[in-house]
Amino acid sequence: MKKLFIKTYGCQMNVYDSGRMADLLAPLGFQLGEAAEGADMVILNTCHIREKAAEKLYSDLGRLRRLKGKKEDAGGRMLIAVAGCVAQAEGAEILARQPAVDLVVGPQSYHRLPEMIAKLSRGAGAALETDFPAEDKFDHLPEEQAGQGPAAFLTVQEGCDKFCTFCVVPYTRGAEFSRPVQQIEAEARRLVSGGAREITLLGQNVNAYRGMGPDGESWGLARLIRRLAGIAGLARLRYTTSHPRDMDADLIAAHADQPKLMPYLHLPVQSGSDRVLDAMNRGHTADDYRRLVDRIRKACPEIALSSDFITGFPGETDADFQATLALVRDIGYAQAFSFQYSPRPGTPAATAARQVPDAVKHERLLTLQALLAEQQRSFSASCGHRIFSVLFDRPGKKPGQAVGRSPYLQPVHVDGAASLIGELRDVRIAEVLPNSLRGELVGAAAARVLETA
Ligand code: SAM
Ligand code: SF4
Repeated sequence: MKKLFIKTYGCQMNVYDSGRMADLLAPLGFQLGEAAEGADMVILNTCHIREKAAEKLYSDLGRLRRLKGKKEDAGGRMLIAVAGCVAQAEGAEILARQPAVDLVVGPQSYHRLPEMIAKLSRGAGAALETDFPAEDKFDHLPEEQAGQGPAAFLTVQEGCDKFCTFCVVPYTRGAEFSRPVQQIEAEARRLVSGGAREITLLGQNVNAYRGMGPDGESWGLARLIRRLAGIAGLARLRYTTSHPRDMDADLIAAHADQPKLMPYLHLPVQSGSDRVLDAMNRGHTADDYRRLVDRIRKACPEIALSSDFITGFPGETDADFQATLALVRDIGYAQAFSFQYSPRPGTPAATAARQVPDAVKHERLLTLQALLAEQQRSFSASCGHRIFSVLFDRPGKKPGQAVGRSPYLQPVHVDGAASLIGELRDVRIAEVLPNSLRGELVGAAAARVLETA
């Protein structure tokens, strides 16, 4: 067996891709390990969203080059591959700047890795695959080898046609593409047979999903969710990330009529200022977003919302930033991610006039984060003494402890119940901690665990 190490940066879609790369390389004898040291192949699956992504990659590659040298001195060989969005964006530049790299492969072409490795072993030089291939990557991936456990991820949509002016995704992940319903359903069924009780459907713009249905028609995300909800043994469905413009009436209705769809929605808004939203090319106003949230809450009153925000977008004034704070106060988020604007090369906003000084971006970020943290604390506090259905997916830090997720994705730990992993149980929230909840099993579930303890 050869040792494979994959370091994954960034979003859940990269986590999913890394799993699929491991599946793809398993038939070639590569077994996934925990460390780069001594590995026969190392893949860096990169993310281009954050600042200095390329610099971080080159410094990681510098460290890997030394490990590769050590392995060669000992008579071995280490292949180094760069995958993901930085691979797509930097392309041949990576091979030029770091000769220790053997393979560079973009997110739409990693199904070609075995072919690229074969070419390398025939003595061809370093290989580059960053075209957007005509074939569907998913048709060329093997069935999953390793189960993902009780809570699994499944990519249903990739790419983006929205071209927000700050974002690299449309350039690195390409145009919107949706997998056919039957291909997704087959993968979901395999995940469930492998022990998954919850599946999160992934896409850069997951609610823009338009995949071919078994009837030859184009199906939206709501229809896909209804279909997957019919899989016996699958208890929970989630989807992320959604764009406000693609939240259609059918998807909102699914939150009302599909009990398997969790009442938690990540719906990024980025800013509460119409001027900034327009300059970002988001395609909606702050009030459109408020109205949309009203409709979603009417359909599903227990829904909790999460969002992404950017502070200091070019031209953002103090008044614009105040509008963002006002929107946050109006909506009330359970959770959120916030970033200060970082110019990404090649995007329109990077060269826009009136860039906001770093100190201002940072100060606004701190103000926004303080408000979001306060909302998150009050949401968590509101969960005290409630009874949640928890899907246990991993052991806790203490012996006998099991940790799972509430419907709102909060980690919940209970004592004395390691045997619960893979199970859904009703849990009373006994204590609200800063980053998690402590729960106690209720009713019959508690009695059963006590009997077996
Ligand atoms: N498709 C999703 C949407 O439209 O909301 C978001 C995808 S993006 C991978 C995740 C988040 O990264 C964005 O919502 C945005 O808040 C943040 N982001 C993207 N580009 C950024 C940039 N140039 N500077 C700061 N934050 C950025
Ligand atoms: Fe990027 Fe999301 Fe905008 Fe697409 S919709 S360009 S992924 S922020």
